[in-house]
Order: sequence, then structure tokens, then C-alpha cells
Amino acid sequence: MEKDKYYSLIDPEVEKFRENFRKDIPWWYVPEIHLGTNILIIICVLFYSFSNIQNLTFFEFLVIPLMLLGGNFFVWVFHKYPLHRPFKIMPMAYKIHTLSHHHFYTDEAIIYRDKRDFIILFFPIHFVLPVNGILFPALGYFSIKYGVLSPNVAHLIVAMAAVYLVLYEVFHFVSHLPQDAKILRIPIFKNAWVHHRHHHTKKLMGRYNFNIVFPLFDRLFKTYYR
Ligand SMILES: [Zn+2]
Ligand SMILES: [Zn+2]
Repeated sequence: MEKDKYYSLIDPEVEKFRENFRKDIPWWYVPEIHLGTNILIIICVLFYSFSNIQNLTFFEFLVIPLMLLGGNFFVWVFHKYPLHRPFKIMPMAYKIHTLSHHHFYTDEAIIYRDKRDFIILFFPIHFVLPVNGILFPALGYFSIKYGVLSPNVAHLIVAMAAVYLVLYEVFHFVSHLPQDAKILRIPIFKNAWVHHRHHHTKKLMGRYNFNIVFPLFDRLFKTYYR
């Protein structure tokens, strides 16, 4: 991949931000540990949840499309509000996403340079562990214990939350690849790439294209830009 040709196009101001940001990445940051830990958490959650599902009924199976729909809606809301509006209760979300991710990756500089740039591309461990590794499994555990949900439904909700996180990460990563990456020959990835690149335009980021995997709620809520 001829990476240099992309970097020659980056606005010097953006490049300066990127260089300063990179200088602040702690020496102990190891991208393989960051991604490896997240993958391990997700594999454990998926393995435990799916291995506890038995004799799934048709109505229980409906949790799968419902969770895909719910994930799409959650991403739209979470991305539009705490990630792009400086809410007092979640200042870190705005800081990491709008002030860092969107300044580091712009529509002109959508691609990462090397693996250390993953620190501001993938969800941090301190999101994946408490949300997918603890919160969802704990909700699943207590809803089974107190009879709120059937074990199959509870396990499927926990598993699908992890599946949606994986889908999000894959589509978001693909959206930050160079335009001529081979995987972008697949239409669904190319569409996601175009969609997300518009979102990284400074004047559009607070108003359009909040979905990552599929622009369903962007279309429904008229925040779809193409
Ligand atoms: Zn992005
Ligand atoms: Zn954004």
C-alpha cells in the first residue's frame, strides 16, 4: 500500500494536530494488547453466552433482529448526543470522540498511519470491559436469577450486544482505510466508508451520518447525508 501518497495530501494543520497527539500517546500503549484484550473479552462473552443457549424457540430467535435494530438505534443516539454534544455527565465521551477522534481523523485525513494510531480508532478497554464484559453479563445474570427473562433471551441479548460491538468496530475500521483498499470493493463496506467520510467533514459531523454499520436510523431521522 503506497501510504505516502495519502499523507502528502493532509492539511499541515491537521498533520500538526496528529503529530502533537502522537507525542502524547503514553509509552506503555501497546496496540496489540489494546486490541487483544478487547478481542479476548468479546470471545469470552460470546463463548459463554452462546454455549448456554439451548432449544431456541422462534420467538426467542427474534431477539437477534431486535438487537441488531436496537444496536443501530443506540449507536445513532449515543453518537449524536454524548459523543457530539458536551454533556456535563459524560465529558470524556465528547473529549475522546469530537475533540480527539474527529480532529485526528478528518475527511481529508481519514486513514491511520500505523498501529499506534489505533489508540484513537478503536473503543478503549475501559469501555469494552465495563459495558460488554461486566454490565451486559450482570444484567443477563440478574434477569435470569429474578425470572425477568428466559435464560435463552438473556444470553442472546448479552451475545448480540457483543456481536454489535464487533460489527461496529469492523465497519468503523474499514471506514478509516485508504480509498483503494481491496475490501472497499465490497459495496456494503464502500457505502459505509463514504457515509463515514462525510461524517468526518467538520461542518457535517454534528448533524449527519451517525450510524456506522448501516444508515437505518440516519435515514429514518433524516440525518442521512450523501
Ligand atoms: Zn471515525
Ligand atoms: Zn462522530
